[in-house]
Amino acid sequence: MIVPRRWAAAATAAILVSVVLSHPGSGTAAPAPATPPRVALADDETALVRVQLRDQAQLDQLVARGADLANRPRSADGRIFADLVLTGVQLAELTAQGATPLQVVQRAGDGERHFAESLRASQARTAAGLRAPAAGQRTASAAAVDTLQFLQAYWWTSNGQTFVQTQVATTATDDPDVEITVSWRAADGATGSFPLFRFEDSGEYQYHYAQPVPVPSRPVQVTATSSLGGVSRPVTPAVWPNATPPPLPEGYQKDFIDAYLTPTDIQARIKRLARQYRDLVDVIDLPNKTQGYRRTAVAYLGDPAAAAVVVESVRFGDQGMNGVQVRTVDPGRANRPLTATYRDRVLTVSLATDGAGKVTSSTDQVAAVINARFANRFQAFVEQGSAGLPMPVVAPVRLDDGLQGTEVSTKPWTVQALRIGVHRDGSRIGVLAYSQEHAREWATPLVTLEFAERMLANSRTDPATRELLEQTEIFVIPTVNPDGANYSFHDFDFQRKNLVNHCTGVSRDPANRDSWGVDLNRNYTVGSHFDGYVGASSNCLSGSYAGTGELSEAESRNVVALAREHDNIRFAMNVHSYGGYFMWPPGAYKADGRVTLPRPSIDESKLFLDSARRIVGAIAQERGTVTWPSQTGPVADVLYSAAGNSADELYYELGIFAWDFEVGNDRWNPATGQWEGVGFQPPFDEAHGESQEYAGGLVEMVRVARDYAAAQEG
Ligand SMILES: [Zn+2]
Repeated sequence: MIVPRRWAAAATAAILVSVVLSHPGSGTAAPAPATPPRVALADDETALVRVQLRDQAQLDQLVARGADLANRPRSADGRIFADLVLTGVQLAELTAQGATPLQVVQRAGDGERHFAESLRASQARTAAGLRAPAAGQRTASAAAVDTLQFLQAYWWTSNGQTFVQTQVATTATDDPDVEITVSWRAADGATGSFPLFRFEDSGEYQYHYAQPVPVPSRPVQVTATSSLGGVSRPVTPAVWPNATPPPLPEGYQKDFIDAYLTPTDIQARIKRLARQYRDLVDVIDLPNKTQGYRRTAVAYLGDPAAAAVVVESVRFGDQGMNGVQVRTVDPGRANRPLTATYRDRVLTVSLATDGAGKVTSSTDQVAAVINARFANRFQAFVEQGSAGLPMPVVAPVRLDDGLQGTEVSTKPWTVQALRIGVHRDGSRIGVLAYSQEHAREWATPLVTLEFAERMLANSRTDPATRELLEQTEIFVIPTVNPDGANYSFHDFDFQRKNLVNHCTGVSRDPANRDSWGVDLNRNYTVGSHFDGYVGASSNCLSGSYAGTGELSEAESRNVVALAREHDNIRFAMNVHSYGGYFMWPPGAYKADGRVTLPRPSIDESKLFLDSARRIVGAIAQERGTVTWPSQTGPVADVLYSAAGNSADELYYELGIFAWDFEVGNDRWNPATGQWEGVGFQPPFDEAHGESQEYAGGLVEMVRVARDYAAAQEG
């Protein structure tokens, strides 16, 4: 966030932020939960929290500051929600500014626990010989001063419950007080109504909308009315997505995922698939090795709460620097100069003394002498708040990289892609699926690996799958960001970025260790932060830090390299979690006037939407999950502006039809009448369900590509 050093400061007292949700005021559509949820977070605890913001300005401010905005769920009633990764201190600040915490989606440590549970359950199933778990135009009166038009009116049934969702535009775009109500009539004769709420983005009116609303049976008519007297034509809602994939043949093989997978597990899975399906798979080592699961070694020389200098190794901790000691000593004699020596892995700073033998060195002088004498080995800086203070005598302290994953390789990582197909020579249309740009999105490599293995296993037994692999080539990068993923599994569940620390000066304070790294999906060249687009940050501690320049990171260069090298790739899916979105370009706009990257042509927009409906239909085939029509569309319209994201890179630079999934749709809770978020690392059963349904979506994407290629030839 904007003042991360302060926010990250260790809590001196574990004061609980405890907020009781007040019931929403009258005029809201959602039934209030029977018991108001309590959101309690210790000052220094980090969690993923669904928050109701004070107003749009507060959301804009958070985005501008580069807050770790995980999701922007739509409320049922026009309130402004955000899912944020924050500490108790940050939450208290936000609350003091008028925000209301609604739900702790995930606490730090939940992921670790869910990972361990998934492994235990998997081992137990293996031991028991079991497989993975089941898992308009107006017709208004003369008095009307606005006209209303339905932009969307859709219905669907999911797990026995029918929903209707609508978007309506009023011509009174500048009047923030227009109220719009939608009345519905169902096939069984039942009627009802619900309010819509004004949706603005970047200060511009977009439309009025509501979350999906449960109805007793298929809605046959909806009509919108406004407080200004506008009345829409009655509209018959269309069924969403109205696309059904071919039925799975008997004996279709799936369910190849039975636990969360670390990067090491993924590497082993890639190797196994290549061995098992030699005739159908090549493994591509992508050209840019990552930094590796490594950090410099660091120690506080002194007490950071009193007076301290931060001493950091230049090389990584695993390069012989973990365990190096540093100390200050009183020379015990008068009139000694400040000196520094390094011998036998001990850096000793002998402090200066005056004529009476009293120590006179300051923190700044100690940092300076270390930097002057050993710049190739150490860098030192004064802890914030310690400037100019007398330097204490400090017994030896050990430098350490702080990494907890002791079993993890520290070597630079070779990111790998699977190349799958009967003809792996570029002669067939190519499809790319890549996942885990964001480290904490643990369900996403499960999706892409389930997809890869489905294609391979069924090619042996299902003629239709075999035919698809004759007609297409499939590229899969299961984990784009293995270093960050390792950090997420072993050190900090909520790690989003990679492990490269570009911070300088006091931002390198180890108190900020969980905030370093580059947001890879903001590091690309199109519509980037560096070009003035919204939704990324130049603050190295921000959740959406764009890096030191376009493509500054090995991980993002790898994605581009693969797509450039294989110019038969015409379709791509960037798999993220969570929230239940299906999106495509444009993914970014400039704030002033909300000028987006160029819109796709009408033909291309139709291809994006028609294909999306097919893929949404395939996702729903698995366990009834329907991605909302309101969350299916261009990124900039349905989620937020994401400057420098990879889908825009692939689309605008390379002409690839590039989509984004946000797997992990909100789940309808009939008991509370609320849609509930699932988070990044849900209990494994949920992650497993996501892997199955979104793998089905990717299979449908391959069919879309095949049909596209056939139409081009035809
Ligand atoms: Zn993501």
